[in-house]
Amino acid sequence: MSDLRDLYQQVILDHTKRPRNFRKLEKANHKAEGYNPLCGDKVTIYLELEDGILRDISFQGSGCAISTASASMMTESLKGKTTTEAQALFECFHDLVTGKPGSGRDAPDLGKLAVFTGVREFPVRVKCASLAWHTLRAALEDHQEAVSTE
Ligand code: ZN
Repeated sequence: MSDLRDLYQQVILDHTKRPRNFRKLEKANHKAEGYNPLCGDKVTIYLELEDGILRDISFQGSGCAISTASASMMTESLKGKTTTEAQALFECFHDLVTGKPGSGRDAPDLGKLAVFTGVREFPVRVKCASLAWHTLRAALEDHQEAVSTE
């Protein structure tokens, strides 16, 4: 188990040090901002949506390791997905980090995102991990107001 935990930490650390898709998306046609006052994490999600498909996705912001890694991995996982698939992945990820009953223990379609399973042991970190996802949903639904986890 501790080996697995090390692996999780390595993956998260790698994404924290070298966040993927960390840039402003010039062609973005959807955008939303999120804020987690509990930790001070801020994130902006940019989407290029075309015919219901996430052609491109990027993020910018500043926050703790968990929030940065989560946003980074989210953008990697969602590129090329349909909005329906993105919503489904959001639900799946949310169940994973909150540890809701009914969520599959090994939720296969989450892939690498499963590294965030450990977050449920730290309730304060759940909001860090889910901030980017809540912001993504706001971007998909075109909410104008900034998302807050509080
Ligand atoms: Zn945080």
